[in-house]
Amino acid sequence: MAQKKAQSNPKKTAEAKGASTSAKKTAEPVKAVPAKSEPVTKTEPAAKAEPAKKAEPAAKAEPAKKAEPAAKAEPAKKTEPAAKAEPAKKTEPAAKAEPAKKAEPAAKAEPAKKAEPAAKAEPAEKAEPAVEAEPAKKTKTAAKKPAAKKAKPAAKKAETEAQKPVAEEAKPAEPVAEVAAPVAEQPAAPVAEPAPAQPQYDTPRRSVAFIGSECHPFVKTGGLGDVMYALPRELVNQNCDVRVILPRYACIPQKYQDKMVYRGEFYMDLGETGRSYYVGIMEYICDGVVYDFIDNQEFFTDGNPYVSLVDDIPKYCFFSKAALAALNYMNWIPDVIHCHDWQAALVPVYLRTLFKDSPVGRAKTVLTIHNLRFQGIYNIPTIRYWSGLPAEVFNMGALQQAWRDANMLKGGLAYADRITTVSNTYAWEIQTPEYGEQLEDHLRYHSYKLRGIVNGIDYGMWNPATDPALAVNYDITNVLERKPQNKLALQKELGLVEDEGKLVVGLISRLTNQKGLDLVNAIVPQIMDGNTQVVVLGTGDKEYEDTFRYYENAYKGMFSACIQYDEARAHRIYAGADVLLVPSRFEPCGLTQLNAMHYGTLPIVRETGGLKDTVQPYNVFNGEGNGFTFDRYDAGLLLDAINRAKTEYFTSRYHWDEVVQRDMAKDVSWANSARQYKDLYLELTPW
Ligand code: ADP
Repeated sequence: MAQKKAQSNPKKTAEAKGASTSAKKTAEPVKAVPAKSEPVTKTEPAAKAEPAKKAEPAAKAEPAKKAEPAAKAEPAKKTEPAAKAEPAKKTEPAAKAEPAKKAEPAAKAEPAKKAEPAAKAEPAEKAEPAVEAEPAKKTKTAAKKPAAKKAKPAAKKAETEAQKPVAEEAKPAEPVAEVAAPVAEQPAAPVAEPAPAQPQYDTPRRSVAFIGSECHPFVKTGGLGDVMYALPRELVNQNCDVRVILPRYACIPQKYQDKMVYRGEFYMDLGETGRSYYVGIMEYICDGVVYDFIDNQEFFTDGNPYVSLVDDIPKYCFFSKAALAALNYMNWIPDVIHCHDWQAALVPVYLRTLFKDSPVGRAKTVLTIHNLRFQGIYNIPTIRYWSGLPAEVFNMGALQQAWRDANMLKGGLAYADRITTVSNTYAWEIQTPEYGEQLEDHLRYHSYKLRGIVNGIDYGMWNPATDPALAVNYDITNVLERKPQNKLALQKELGLVEDEGKLVVGLISRLTNQKGLDLVNAIVPQIMDGNTQVVVLGTGDKEYEDTFRYYENAYKGMFSACIQYDEARAHRIYAGADVLLVPSRFEPCGLTQLNAMHYGTLPIVRETGGLKDTVQPYNVFNGEGNGFTFDRYDAGLLLDAINRAKTEYFTSRYHWDEVVQRDMAKDVSWANSARQYKDLYLELTPW
C-alpha cells in the first residue's frame, strides 16, 4: 500500500487536487478554481481510501521517484484566487452582538447576581449569533480580482503580507469588555450581595497559540484530537489567552462550518512552487478559546484529514507556514507557540528561519510528541520544494535523516525550545532503541529540553453522572447498584447473555499493531470460561477485525465484536464493562484507561508509557492500586493479569468494589496537567 502511495508525485497530486476542487462550499471566500484545469487528470483518487493516522512510518515512504519536483511544476498559471472584499465590513456583525442590551436588564433586576452571567456569557455566545448571521454571504460577496501579486519573490512575501492591515479585523475579546462595563456602572444595588468573584490567578498571564492537525469536536482520529480540545480550555482557567489554529478541512461538520466567521485573508508563497496561495482565516470562539481555521480548498478538501504522505507532505508544509503567517496577519503575537506532532513540526523550523525577523519570530516554541511512530518522512528534494526552507536546515542535526530523507518531526525537535511528550515514562522510553523509532539518538541529544506531562480527560465529556449515552447515570455514591444496570443494558444492546454476574471485559481501540492485539487474540480461548464475556469496539487492520469477528461467531452470546467507530457505544462500554484491556506494545499516554477508571471500570494494562504512569498495580496484600498490570510484552503475562482480575472479581467482591470506588475518585482531570504546561510556558517566558 505504501508502495502504491509513493508512486504518485506529491507535487502534481496536490496541484491536481487543487484544480479539481470547485465551488461547492458555501462559506468559501474564494474559489480557487484555476483558469486551466490540465492537471485534473493527475489526481490519484485511490490514495484517499486510507484510514486515519496514515502517516506511514519512515521505512515505508519509498519516495525515490518523487524527487524532481521543481522541474515540472509550472503551477504558477493556476489558481489565482481572487483578492477579496473587506474584512472590516464582514466582521462588524460580530461586534454588534448587543452586549449593551443584554447587560442592562440584568443590572436592573438584581445587579449583583446578574453581573455574573453577563460577565461570563461572553465571547462564545455573543459571537455566535453574529457568526450565524452570515458567514456564507460574506464570503460570497468576495469580488474576484486579478491576482496581480502572485509572482512575488518567495521569501519575503509571507512577511510583508503578514504585516498587512489588521486594524479592521474583528477583535474577539472586545465584546467581553463591552459587556462588563455597563454592569459595573449601575447604581448601587439594593441587595447587599457580594460582587461576583473574579477568578483569582496565582500565575501571570501568557498567550499561547496551539497549532495542530485535529481537534475535537471538529475533527478527531485519536488522542491528539482530545488533547487539542481539552488542554486549551483548561489553560484558559490557568490565566492563558489561547488561540487554536487548525486546517479548515471540508470534513468538519456543517454545524461548525456555519458558526465560523470570516476573519481575513492574504496570499502566501510556498516553497519553490513559484505560486501565491490563498490563505483564508475563519474564526469560531467557544468557551474562551478562539479557533482559527486556515482555509484553502486546494489542500483541505478530503473527507479525512490524513490521506497519504503524497498529499499530506504538501498539505502540512502549507499549513505550518500559513499558521505563522496568519498570526502575523492578525497581529496576534503569542508568548508561546505550542505545536503538535509531525504535522505542525515545521513550525519551529519556519519560526527560526523564514519568520525570524517577523513579529511572530519572538515567540517561544513547544513541540509535543503524541505518537513518535508518525514523523512525516519523505525525500529531501520534495520537502525542500514544498517547504521552501533554506538548505542549512537539511543537515543531519535537523531535518536530514539517514543521509537522503528529510524528517519533519526531527527538524521540529531540533528547533523547538522545549519538547514534551504525553507521559514521563514515554519521555524516557523514546530515548531507547526499542521505542525511539530511530530518533533515539536525536532525542537523547535534545533530552535537556524534553519532558513528560501526562494527559488528562475532559470531565465535561466524560462524566458517568451526566453522560447522555448511558442507560443509567451514576456517581461514586451509587456506582455499586447502578453499574450492573449498565452492564445488563450493554449485554442486551450487544446480544450477549444477560447476566450481571458475568465478568465483562472491554476493549476499545484502534485495531493496529501498536495496541497489543496479537496478545489478546492469542489468549481469547483461554479467557472464555463461561463466566466471562468480551466486548471489542474498534476498527483498523483487517487481520484483527476478522479474528474478532471469528471469535464472535465461535462464542455466541459471550463475545461481541463491534467493528466500528462509535463514540456513544464507547461510553456505554466504559460504563457497562468490569475491566478494560489495554495491553499496548507502546502507549505514549493512553486515554482509554483513564476513561475506564473514571467510569469505575478497572484497567488491565501493560506497564509501558502513560499506562505505567497512570495505573498503579493492585496489591492483594494491602488492597492498594487501581488495576492489573504486567510488564513484558508476552501473551502469558496478559493472561496472568486477567486471571488475577478474575480471582479478585469472583472471590473478593468487597475488595473489588473498593477499587472501583477508588478509581472513580482518582483525579484524572486536565487541571493538574494544564498547570504543568503553564509552568513550562512560564519557564520559557520568565519576564
Ligand atoms: P490513540 O490516540 O492511540 O488512538 P488513545 O487511548 O490516546 O489512543 O485515545 C483513543 C480515544 O479514542 C479514546 O477516547 C477512545 O475512547 C476513543 N476510541 C478509540 N476507538 C474508538 C472506537 N472504535 N469508537 C469510539 N471511540 C473510540
